[in-house]
Amino acid sequence: MSNPSTNPDEPGPDEIGRDRKGARSASPPLETGLYVVATPIGNLRDITLRALDILAGVGRLYAEDTRVARKLLDAYGLKPRLAAYHEHNAEAARADIVAALHAGESVALISDAGTPLVSDPGYKLVRAVLAEGFRVYPIPGPSALLAALVTAGLPTDRFMFAGFLPAKQGARRGELAALADIDASLVFYESGPRLAEALADMAEALGPRPAAVARELTKMFEETRRDSLPALAAHYAEAGAPKGEIVVVVGPPLEVEVTPEALDAFLREALERGGVKEAASEAAKRLGVPRKRAYTRALELKA
Ligand code: SAM
Repeated sequence: MSNPSTNPDEPGPDEIGRDRKGARSASPPLETGLYVVATPIGNLRDITLRALDILAGVGRLYAEDTRVARKLLDAYGLKPRLAAYHEHNAEAARADIVAALHAGESVALISDAGTPLVSDPGYKLVRAVLAEGFRVYPIPGPSALLAALVTAGLPTDRFMFAGFLPAKQGARRGELAALADIDASLVFYESGPRLAEALADMAEALGPRPAAVARELTKMFEETRRDSLPALAAHYAEAGAPKGEIVVVVGPPLEVEVTPEALDAFLREALERGGVKEAASEAAKRLGVPRKRAYTRALELKA
């Protein structure tokens, strides 16, 4: 095991007022820097001990909506110096935050729910703080995208977070078409009123893939509905707009069943035009078969 005092990647004992095992020390002031703190996406108990330490000890806390933040802070008896950081005051607030850092203060950022910067404000702030040479400390915790992904029952080895789709149908369809060939599960944030039409467009652009609609995660009416995209689109078209917050997870492109005869016919034709490698690549791309299967068979046919 590495010695904490010699490993530059590990926070030192006094860096966040805790030693590496999380034991409490005498709570010295936090190091100067921006702390990006994840907060619950519903259940107020989904907050880390370290996040509570930071919220208790930080010089200034910036929140997307101070009224929302106060509910969380009141639940834990925390009274940090609170200010707003949102779309409409971001530029001025960034200047204040950078000035506070230059004065040696510590600043934390939270959003209304989950992890700041993930479909939430904060990216430009992080850039500005880094540009001024200050540290940005991640304080990880909940995010609706991971909560939905792990309950969807769809492949998790590769996924792409696509955020909110455009509200206008033309733009939405264009974006879905651009995502159609990505070999990964796709994760979208959605709103109840738009869910049925978004699912219909997904079914059209992405085909009958398996998907999951995760709603009100970690809250009282948590529900995840799993079915094919067309079936989910039909369900919500019939049932109407669901209440609450929603994440849609869509499985990767379906592997099409290609019979040995169909593969042979394709490869024979491709081999007349080029070599084994090219024929295998073309078959993988056009038929969706694994490249290895196409290559092995192309070699056999060529022999
Ligand atoms: N930064 C947040 C995060 O890390 O998840 C996301 C903020 S984004 C403005 C809000 C969207 O996240 C909602 O419209 C919904 O799509 C999703 N979301 C947030 N909380 C959720 C929950 N409890 N259940 C399902 N989706 C949720």
